[in-house]
Amino acid sequence: MAVDSALSSPLGPPACEKDAKALQFIEEMTRNADAVQERVLAEILSRNAETEYLKRFKLGGATDRKTFKSKVPVITYEDVQPEIQRIANGDRSAILSSHPISEFLTSSGTSAGERKLMPTIKEELDRRQLLYSLLMPVMNLYVPDLDKGKGLYFLFVKSETRTPSGLLARPVLTSYYKSDHFKTRPYDPYNVYTSPNEAILCPDSFQSMYTQMLCGLIERNHVLRLGAVFASGLLRAIRFLQLNWPELAHDISAGSLNSRVTDPAIRDYMCQVMKPDPKLAEFVEQECSKENWEGIITRIWPNTKYLDVIVTGAMAQYIPTLNYYSGGLPLACTMYASSECYFGLNLNPMCKPSEVSYTIMPNMAYFEFLPHESSRVDSSVPPKLVDLADVEVGKEYELVITTYAGLNRYRVGDILRVTGFHNSAPQFHFVRRKNVLLSIDSDKTDESELQRAVENASKLLAEFKTSVVEYTSYADTKTIPGHYVIYWELLTKDDSANLPSHEVLNRCCLEMEESLNSVYRQCRVADHSIGPLEIRVVKSGTFEELMDYAISRGASINQYKVPRCVNFTPIMELLDSRVVSVHFSQRLPHWSPQRRR
Ligand code: AMP
Repeated sequence: MAVDSALSSPLGPPACEKDAKALQFIEEMTRNADAVQERVLAEILSRNAETEYLKRFKLGGATDRKTFKSKVPVITYEDVQPEIQRIANGDRSAILSSHPISEFLTSSGTSAGERKLMPTIKEELDRRQLLYSLLMPVMNLYVPDLDKGKGLYFLFVKSETRTPSGLLARPVLTSYYKSDHFKTRPYDPYNVYTSPNEAILCPDSFQSMYTQMLCGLIERNHVLRLGAVFASGLLRAIRFLQLNWPELAHDISAGSLNSRVTDPAIRDYMCQVMKPDPKLAEFVEQECSKENWEGIITRIWPNTKYLDVIVTGAMAQYIPTLNYYSGGLPLACTMYASSECYFGLNLNPMCKPSEVSYTIMPNMAYFEFLPHESSRVDSSVPPKLVDLADVEVGKEYELVITTYAGLNRYRVGDILRVTGFHNSAPQFHFVRRKNVLLSIDSDKTDESELQRAVENASKLLAEFKTSVVEYTSYADTKTIPGHYVIYWELLTKDDSANLPSHEVLNRCCLEMEESLNSVYRQCRVADHSIGPLEIRVVKSGTFEELMDYAISRGASINQYKVPRCVNFTPIMELLDSRVVSVHFSQRLPHWSPQRRR
């Protein structure tokens, strides 16, 4: 029931008093976007004035935007990596931030094949928590009665390491789930999960997923929303159910817990909740043993009102599969965030995925926008960056942030298009991440990484006097988990017909995987969120046909470049019709949580 109209918000009538406060906060922030941004920058610059990094640019105590923009350069990760490395190695002086760096957040973006390390400070957790606290109040405006049931969210922690000086390095969500903010969160009827903390916090992905699925099945009638961070994660859960429903049904029937779940905290917890329920077990068996899994989500969880998953950006490739399994339930993309900083939220979360716009919250950091075209202009000309309140509708920008934790004018690499404003705060459509060719889960493979992987793998062909003359790639998400497909056109100079065998080409698949970045290999090895890499060898002359096709559609013959990634159906059909052999990686590549450097 909506609260007193005195608390009403321009966004809509809040569901409860707590929501009213959250909506009011959003209103305040978005009405005063420019003033809040000015204050945030002044705060960051005054508290970090004595840091080694900022002192370098001789701001002379100034905390205003004009001085900041004229003196401090726009940077990428590589520019600040030496400072980050020093912190990682134990230098505790105020290098980037006057507040001590509490840990590093490991981004899914990579540098030299390893995850980027993002410095963070303790209070950033409060800022992230604040953004999380705004999500349900907004959702409650659109979906009633979410306090009458629970959310089945598949949430996981990932492995963490320590830097040479002992600082933790782990993904931002792992850091959040392990924090007291999450573990000891106060009861909120609008935010009750079926997954116990014991399962979410279990580092073994099988045991964690098994328990979360089991709890979700037991509470099937209470589940009102289903989610994971990214769409790929929710599909992985569906795949898990496909593979493991007999064991899950057995446990439900017997009131027992599979012996593969050995984590003592999980076993203690489940011991208290498991009761034999043969009727439910029979239902699970009946539904899951059917050939047709279309609409399985709503069959098993009949009260689900929406799926809470990010399907913007690279994740849009999963929309058809999610629609298939859910019978077209609404897909809610609620927030936009990164390891560097949490950015903002979707104020209209039940809109179509193609219409999702995120409103950047001006209190999170100081935001600037690099007009996208200008990033291609001569780099000796200083680019003109635009402030949050000054971006123009319809234009595309690259996001640049200055954070409390000490990143100054840092290029995030995301390209955003302005779709409109909420009060004076702009709203952005996520266009794409720069330089990402292939992505299945949290992996982001760029063109040079793919090129290097092909080069390394093709060395195995040298003894057969065979080389890769052309290649392209495709992220195949029709399989769960998805996998990389690389099309190779080969040239053999050896007349003796000593051609590379199927086994050699299988090894090339593995060699490519070994050469890809650590996020890819972690997804393969630890998360099982990417399947074995596939090489499809195509007939010689195929890439010439591809060029002919592009030219017939208007490409310039002089400027034609082989696309290093394809997803246009006629091109895929052409390539697939020319395939002469198919090869897969037969083993997992190497991966360990330890960084190589
Ligand atoms: P990470 O630092 O590994 O957490 O990755 C952050 C990146 O994930 C962002 O910079 C975006 O490229 C992407 N990302 C995060 N949230 C969204 C979203 N809602 N839609 C599309 N891409 C997103």
